[in-house]
Amino acid sequence: MERVIYLDNAATTPVDPAVFEEMKPFFTERFANPMTYMHSSAGDVAHTAVEEARVRVASLIGSKPEQVVFTGGGTESDNWVLKGAVEKASRERLHKPGHLVTAEFEHHAILHSALALQRQGYEVTFVKVGRSGIVDPDDVRRAMRPTTLLVSIMHANNEIGTIQPIADIARVAHENGALMHTDAVQTTAHIPVDVNALGVDFLSLSGHKFNGPKGVGILFVRDHAALYPFIDGGGQEWGLRGSTHNVPGIVGLGKAAQLGKERLPGELERLTTLRTMLYDKLSARIDRIFLNGDMKQRVPQNLNIRIEGIDNEPLLLAMNEAGIIAAGGSACNAEETLASHVLTSIGCDLKEAKSSIRLSFGYVTTEKDIDYAADVIPNLVKFLRSMA
Ligand code: PLP
Repeated sequence: MERVIYLDNAATTPVDPAVFEEMKPFFTERFANPMTYMHSSAGDVAHTAVEEARVRVASLIGSKPEQVVFTGGGTESDNWVLKGAVEKASRERLHKPGHLVTAEFEHHAILHSALALQRQGYEVTFVKVGRSGIVDPDDVRRAMRPTTLLVSIMHANNEIGTIQPIADIARVAHENGALMHTDAVQTTAHIPVDVNALGVDFLSLSGHKFNGPKGVGILFVRDHAALYPFIDGGGQEWGLRGSTHNVPGIVGLGKAAQLGKERLPGELERLTTLRTMLYDKLSARIDRIFLNGDMKQRVPQNLNIRIEGIDNEPLLLAMNEAGIIAAGGSACNAEETLASHVLTSIGCDLKEAKSSIRLSFGYVTTEKDIDYAADVIPNLVKFLRSMA
């Protein structure tokens, strides 16, 4: 197979071989249902594995194990907290639909959940985000109302990687009597994520963004009483999330969390160095190149650049031909021909948004990959500009 330089780790990452090894027996030999542990030793093996994974994830985010509720991934966690927490607080505190504050550049798991709530009569404020790609806590403060029940602001944006002042925003939410949620899908295992330092009531994370399997994540729930179940069913996850546990997935998520915690300090430094190296080289070799979003308040694995006079579609196709996989925006919206809603929300016009690409790095990224990308991309840009 030809060499592929995978620079789309914000979309997903490969399962680490050590994660895969731990998962394997739970498909075949250790397949029992963990809920049968009371009367079955086979069930006990599966149950113990689920609980060990819970401890590992809790250790990654600084929570208690019982505050970690396994879900089917980031999208489910985001849907659940918006719908489950807002509905419950509305019914119990206001006796009518309440108000939610979020931001214009959130992932569609949040934006579309917020729109679904709006259709049901709840009120939503979408806070604006400036060119830096960072939400101003004062804008959140101005959006608060006596009926505000939840504030949901992502920890880092999935397209431009900018890190948000979550602890400050959580303070604003709490001062105004609202709960605080953050979507930490792009930050967990990449920068320190501690639910107590962040001061959040809820936090979403997803296994496949840090070398775990797809289709499994968690919602950190500080107080189980703060939300209704999203999936009604059996008594799994304290009756908060019915459905037989995805044991191999949960075991894989636990192992990825353990590895992520061990590797975090080294990877934070290594990826920051690689990212800076690539940006410096591209800036030196391509004129009229700009960074989207703040460089300092940014996760180490993200570089989002705008190259004037270039359409991102032919550039990405040409890069793909040359063996470099990158993205124009979020993988979930890759079929949209429209420009990224994140870039337009931070003030880019359509042309600017369509001339932007996201390069995202991960555990598998090497210096050789970066050198190759830094050599190839400027030549492709030169060629495409000459054709324009
Ligand atoms: N939130 C953010 C910020 C994301 O980047 C993603 C994935 O792209 C999700 C939520 C959805 O997570 P999942 O793919 O696990 O449903």
